[in-house]
Order: sequence, then structure tokens, then C-alpha cells
Amino acid sequence: MQAIMNTYARFPLSLVRGEGARVWDDQGRSYLDFISGIAVNTLGHAHPKMTAALADQAATMLHCSNLFHIPQQQQLAERLTRLSGLDAAFFCNSGAEANEGAIKLARKYFHDRNLPGRTIITATQSFHGRLLATLSATGQAKVKTGFDPLPAGFTHVPLNDMEALKLAVNDDTAAILLEPLQGEGGVNIAHVDYLQAVRQCCDERGLLLILDEVQTGIGRCGSMFAFEQAGIVPDILTLAKGLGGGVAIGAMLAVEQVAASFGPGTHGSTFGGNPLACTAALTVLDVIESEQLLANVQQRGEQLRCGLQAMARRHPVICDVRGQGLLIGAELSIEAAPLIAAARAEGLLILMAGPHVLRFLPPLNITADEVDAALAIVEAVFENSPLETRTSETGAAGNRISEERILEERTGERK
Ligand code: PLP
Repeated sequence: MQAIMNTYARFPLSLVRGEGARVWDDQGRSYLDFISGIAVNTLGHAHPKMTAALADQAATMLHCSNLFHIPQQQQLAERLTRLSGLDAAFFCNSGAEANEGAIKLARKYFHDRNLPGRTIITATQSFHGRLLATLSATGQAKVKTGFDPLPAGFTHVPLNDMEALKLAVNDDTAAILLEPLQGEGGVNIAHVDYLQAVRQCCDERGLLLILDEVQTGIGRCGSMFAFEQAGIVPDILTLAKGLGGGVAIGAMLAVEQVAASFGPGTHGSTFGGNPLACTAALTVLDVIESEQLLANVQQRGEQLRCGLQAMARRHPVICDVRGQGLLIGAELSIEAAPLIAAARAEGLLILMAGPHVLRFLPPLNITADEVDAALAIVEAVFENSPLETRTSETGAAGNRISEERILEERTGERK
């Protein structure tokens, strides 16, 4: 029996060190990191300001308790409320916890108005976490199997289908919970007009709009929050991943009249918003501002998207390139896993978003040269890989080249 529970199909390498957008494995080989710990390492690895701020905070105080006032938490709450336009923040340790808090808050808000037991509508293909309520909220059957009974109170509708949403809304609806861009579900963008119509529907029907920006928030999509690009503001907003730049922290923000439904004893977290985690998040926000990373995300995102679109013209197995800022997906007519293994063998770490989508999530301070280097590796993988011919022989669905096989084919070539 392995000492670590077998919950991850791990890549066959151990990463031990990082600097900027580059990481090294335990064999001394280096890789360009276009995964960023799944959209977590906002500032790349070992950013000097982050290292210094954390060392200083560790030498001062790591943790006390939410039984005390925590100045760094107060500062972070003020910063995030100012940036988002929402009014109050609750801090926790992960995306699932932030969403769990959002679900609890929405339920409590209606309970306080003598309307208990109302339901939440979310999108098919959504991903909101692996805690029980967030699993229920998630619109993907594959992650739910085996965990019955899941908490009741969630229904799902296809993303970007306003008619389906209107049909699903009824007198029992409390809230609509959406990702502005579905990351795990395949890099699927919620269209601006859809988000605006959802906001309007919530206003007309007295529903809460909850936006899950666990993956899209904190600059990832080229604005501090993706919702800004639709010109709307949610009633509840959840954040995690990139917020701490690698230190675990999640946040759930709400507008005043909704936040007021939580009082002492209604919700809590031992670790949530401790001095170390809040220092990390404040440093992330400082560096995004001082290094003008939102502009960098827009420019490098454009560079990456255009590069992939040009590649799609040369390699028709790339059927779509989509995303916002530095959350970019390339949908393939073949399986993504072998290409990811081939890229890794060439020194580039990229991720999947479902079986057919390559996902690119570099740090927000990635440079133009690093984007070019990543594009060159992806191009070489498509050029040299036998996948396209095999695909035309077997058809997209019939492509059965294993990841190991591609690894064998490519590792020998790598310097
Ligand atoms: N929400 C979204 C949109 C996510 O992408 C994720 C993780 O991928 C989660 C929630 C869950 O976050 P965590 O793994 O930190 O619990």
C-alpha cells in the first residue's frame, strides 16, 4: 500500500525547485511551467518580494486565531472589497471552502427572510470543488459518482443558454452560481451578454448571483476579476488559487445585505485568513499592481492565443483556441494526454481541461520570450508527433496512442 492515498494520476516526475516560470525536477532537468500549480503561482516561483514578505511574517507570527483581530486580514479584506466592489470578506483555505461558505451564506440569507430550503442553479460542466455541497453544485457526473447521498438543493443548466436558465428558475430558487470561464470543465467562456442577462434575471427575481472566480480571479483573465469584463458585479464572489500565490488561502466576499446574514457562530475556519496567508495575498496584490501584471496578462495572453491560432492553421487537429488572459485552452480532435506528455518530455509543463483540451496557465509575470519558447515546443510536438497521421488512420475517437508510448518516443530526444 502506498503511504499517500491514490487520489491523483500524477505525472512521472518530482518537482523540487522553481524560479520565475521555470521549475526543476529531482534529476536536475528544467521545465517551463505553464501549469503554475493549476493557476496558483501567480507570481511564478520564488518571487523575491514574496520570499522576503513570507520570511518576515514567519519570523513575526504565523498564526493566531480568528478569536483575535488580525491586522493583515483586515487590510486584505479592505483591499479585496475595494477592488471588487463587494462589501465584506470571509477567509478560508481553498476554493471548495470558499464555495461552501457561499452556499451556506446564500441559504442563510433566504432563511433570514423566512424562505428556507431554496435551491441553487449551476451550469453543466461547472467545477466548484470536492467538498460534499460543492460536489453537488458541480455539473460533472464523473466527480460525483460514489459519494451519495450528496446534499440536495442544486439543479444544472447548460452554460450560455438563457432560455434554459429562465425555465429552471422558479419560486424555490435562491441563487445562480457560475464560473465566468469554466476552467476544469474545458475552458468554456460564459459570454458577456449571458452574464449580463443572468445578472438582470437575478435582479428581477430577487435571486443572488454567486460568481466562482477561484480559477479566473486575481488577474488570471486580464482584469483583477473576470466579471469586470462583463460590466456586472455579483452578490457573492469566491476566490482562492492565485490569491495566495502558493500559500493556501480562499476568500468569499458578499455585498452588505447578504454578508449581514452571517453572525458569530454561523461560520468559521481555524486557519482561514491567518497572518501568513494574508501576507502572501497582500504581496500578490502589491506585485500585480507594482509590476503592472494585468497589462502583461493581456499582452502575453494575446501572444499565446495568436500563436496557438496560427498553429491551428498548420495543424488542423487543433480545432479551437479559446480563453481569456492567461487561461487559454486549445481543443483538439485527438486526446490531449499524449501531447501533454510529449511537451513535458521537451521541457514544457501544460495541463488538460477534459480529455481533448490543452490548458495553458503560465504565471502572470511570464515574459514574451518564455511564451515564444513554449509555443516553439508545442509546435515541435505537433510537427514531430505521429499523432496526426495516426488520427487520420483511426479517427479522432479511435486514437489510442498511450502517454507512456509518446514518452518513450520523446524522452530519448530530450537534452
Ligand atoms: N472552483 C473552481 C472554479 C475551481 O477551478 C476549483 C479548482 O480547480 C475549485 C473551485 C476548487 O478549489 P480547491 O481545489 O482549492 O478546493
